[in-house]
This record gives sequence, structure tokens and C-alpha cells, in this order.
Amino acid sequence: MGNKSRPSELITPDELARIIAFTKDKETPCLVIDLKKVAEKYDELVRVMSGAKIYYAVKANPLDEVIKLFRDRGAYFDVASRFEIDQLLGLDVPPERMSYGNTIKKEVDIIYAYRKGIRLYTTDSRSDIEKLSRSAPGAKVNFRLLLDGSGADWPLSKKFGAHPDMVYKLVKFAKKSGLMPYGISFHVGSQQRDIGQWDNAIALVRYLFDALKNDGIRLNAINLGGGFPAQYLKPTDSVLSYADSIIGYLREDFPDGGLDIIVEPGRSLVADAGIIVTEVVLISKKSERNRMRWIYLDVGKFNGLIETIGEAIKYPIVFAGRDGKEEWSEVVLAGPTCDSADILYEDYKYKVPNNLKEGERVYILTAGAYTMSYSSVGFNGFPPIATHILQ
Ligand SMILES: *Cc1c(COP(=O)(O)O)cnc(C)c1O
Repeated sequence: MGNKSRPSELITPDELARIIAFTKDKETPCLVIDLKKVAEKYDELVRVMSGAKIYYAVKANPLDEVIKLFRDRGAYFDVASRFEIDQLLGLDVPPERMSYGNTIKKEVDIIYAYRKGIRLYTTDSRSDIEKLSRSAPGAKVNFRLLLDGSGADWPLSKKFGAHPDMVYKLVKFAKKSGLMPYGISFHVGSQQRDIGQWDNAIALVRYLFDALKNDGIRLNAINLGGGFPAQYLKPTDSVLSYADSIIGYLREDFPDGGLDIIVEPGRSLVADAGIIVTEVVLISKKSERNRMRWIYLDVGKFNGLIETIGEAIKYPIVFAGRDGKEEWSEVVLAGPTCDSADILYEDYKYKVPNNLKEGERVYILTAGAYTMSYSSVGFNGFPPIATHILQ
């Protein structure tokens, strides 16, 4: 059962019928985004993390319509490049609502961001602090703590952050360089399934706050990052239970409160609101005797499903119009391009109906995050995945 039953729990027959009707005359592959669901996710997070400032991680889904929705609800934004800054400024998001959260910055980009009015940056290295002190004098700075990302489906691991002892030194260095140390940030890893990871991280932040207080530096913020869950094949706890636990950890370590609490969700706000509609291109076998079918879809790693690298993210997949009486069997799922990396699932075996046909449409759920923004521009000539707002 497993992967047979769960996808149907994630979408009602009416919702599926609506998607099918809406995309009937549209070419595949395409991504359909339901803004109503994005709004619900945002409002839910505001409710369960009350008092926290929400910085939406733009990279998760940078559609103008999504940005405008968050803008109108008063959200803040985590941006990573001058291109995202330009996009948001073009949509009338004020620079005071942006944080330049990428720790990897060219100095020309810092100069650009500062000129456009951005005054909050994240850093994790001495060299970046030198650039900031020259080109963003007096700016507020968050310091990113290195975590190992264990427990996450999509760990961000070693690339970002510094060890606590290093962060301690960086904060002092930034202060001496004329910057305004503001807070400590971390990211426990994306689609984090172990809520206890926030407990460890918050305890480290407490330790840093205390150490720095002894040096006369008072930090004002804690940035809890992203990592909140979306509903993929393997069930997760609710966002509410994540928030309850995290608020509990904060109370334990910071009983006096008085801090700016920041969250930087990407995936959890947009993933559940997206469905990829794809077509079965080819069904084949590798030899007469081999029973394993290969199912090639018109969407793959290069036009939307890059998070299937290492089979990290397992999307719920719906085969419409089945009555539950037909036989299902295990297959290999692959994309349409001429690169052998473009296999979606080979170790983990999805079951698909034996009567699946070439030309039939298949619906990939929970596809609103890290899909359209992660498409190649034309590998093998296949264009980035088209996106439609559900009407
Ligand atoms: C990508 C990213 C996020 C969003 O993470 P999710 O797990 O998608 O919520 C948040 N903060 C930073 C700095 C990021 O790079």
C-alpha cells in the first residue's frame, strides 16, 4: 500500500478534478500553484509562531504572484542575490523588509544592496565582514552558526555557517569594524524531521549570547531559519507541533524574552500549494526477461525535479481515474533528457498501475517549492517548467 494510499490522502477527488480541468488544454509538463493554499500556509505560520517575524526565503518559489501575496500580508523576505533584490524592488517591496541572507557575496553586490537601502545582512566569515564594513557601514548583521543538518531530507550541511567559537570571534570583529551585531542565525536543514535539532541550536545560541554579554555585546535577535516541513510521501508532524516545540525551547533558554524572533521559511509555505502535471512519454523494459518497467515522464531532474538528487525528496504521485481494483507494480521512474543522472527513483520503488499508458497524465503533488526556480534553461532543448496560477 504505502505509496498507493497516501497521495490520495493529500488531495481530495474534487481538488484533483479541478486541477485536471484547469490543465486539460495546457501543455505538459507544467506546475500549477494554488495561491489560496500559499495564503493558508502563511496565515497558519503567523498564528502558530505568533510574534515571530517571517522572512520568506525567495528562492523556494520566486513567482511574482507569490511575492505579492506575502508582500500584501506584511511579510519580510530573505534574498540571496542582486537579482532577487531587483525583482522585489520592482514589486514595491521596501528594502527595510529584506535581509541579504546569503553569506557568499561579491563586494559589488553588497555595494548594490546597500545603495538600494538594505541594512540587514548575514555573515559567517572574516572576509565577508571586511567587505560589509567597507561597503555597508553601520549595517545590522546576523551571524550564521554551522549545523550539520542531520535529520533533514535536504541538509544544507557544511556549506554555511561557522563553528560557535568562530562566530564568537566574528561578532567581536564585526563590532570593532563598525557594524551592528544583531543576532545569531542558523538553518537546521531543509525538510527537517527531527524537531530536537532546534533545541540543540537554540542552546548554542544561548551560550553565544552569554559569552558575548561578558564582552559587553548584547545581541537582539535569533533567526531560527527554515526547515519547516511539507507533506511529501513520508508523513511529518504538523507545523503547529514544530512551532509548539520550538517556542518551548526558546522559553527554556531565553525565559526573559525580549528578543526579535525570526523565521525564514521557504519550503513549508509553498510546497503543498504546487502540483506538477506531467505526461508518460515512454514505458519500456530493458530485456524480455526483466520484469521491471521503466516509466519515463516529461519532467525530470533538469526541468523541475532536481531535489530527487540522491532520491532525497520523495514526491507523492497520483495516477488519476483508478478504481483501486487494478494491479500495481514497482517501476523505475525517470525523466526525459539524455543524461543518465536524469533518473528520478531507482532505489526507492514507486508502485504504479499496470494499466498505465503512454500519453497519460500523472500528477506530482507537493511540488510548489524548489521546482520552477531550479529548472535548467534548456538542457537538451527542454525549456524550464511552465507555471500557471490556479484560477
Ligand atoms: C533556503 C533557505 C531558507 C529556506 O529553507 P526551507 O527549508 O526551504 O524553509 C531559509 N534561510 C536560508 C538562509 C536559506 O538559504
